[in-house]
Amino acid sequence: MLSTPARCWLCHLPLQIAHHGLCTLCLHQLPLLPALCPCCGLPATAAQRCGRCLRQPPPWHRLTCVSDYTPPLSDWVQQLKFSGAIALRVMLARLLLLKLLTTRRNEPATAFDLVLSVPLHHQRAWQRGFNQSALLAQPLARWLRCEYREGVSRIRRGSTQHQLNARARRHNLRSAFRLEMPVQDRHILLIDDVVTTGSTVAEISRLLQAEGAASIHIGCLCRTL
Ligand SMILES: [Zn+2]
Ligand SMILES: [Zn+2]
Repeated sequence: MLSTPARCWLCHLPLQIAHHGLCTLCLHQLPLLPALCPCCGLPATAAQRCGRCLRQPPPWHRLTCVSDYTPPLSDWVQQLKFSGAIALRVMLARLLLLKLLTTRRNEPATAFDLVLSVPLHHQRAWQRGFNQSALLAQPLARWLRCEYREGVSRIRRGSTQHQLNARARRHNLRSAFRLEMPVQDRHILLIDDVVTTGSTVAEISRLLQAEGAASIHIGCLCRTL
């Protein structure tokens, strides 16, 4: 059966390996990142833990991003938000996978055993119909051979307080999120499409830490630098 060859998202030339989405040439021409702190993911003088993280580390251990919030990645993130095209989703997830594998080659750590995605706001999920972080997290979990769960949900602050026990109530007071599963001793990869101030992933990480997660690695397509 004849089929149209898949084409590179950037140069539109036919691809040798269809599911890769980008040809090797274009892959190597993606904008280079400056030296980033492996912990907060912000520019640092060397690719080492920055002064900010030494003084006051964020509530996660590592952050890996594919790019700054600049084209072509920022355009693709927008496209994914509004179309959810499978080919685009697989290509973007693969870019993040390559970055994660490089990070872990440079700084060996225990393998992930659980992939979680940042949930959308209920209203946004309803309007758009899907969660782009979950779209990225699913293929990543498959390639990393670990479990994927939605695991985290958004709650309205102060809602249903009376139904919660004391511990959950304390969490509810300071978090807009709720964990839907035990995470004790799990090595977690938390996926968000874009990390800007980091407050969302920080809030979820604090919740994961409070529940005994062994390690938390944030993976995102774009980090606003
Ligand atoms: Zn290309
Ligand atoms: Zn840092």
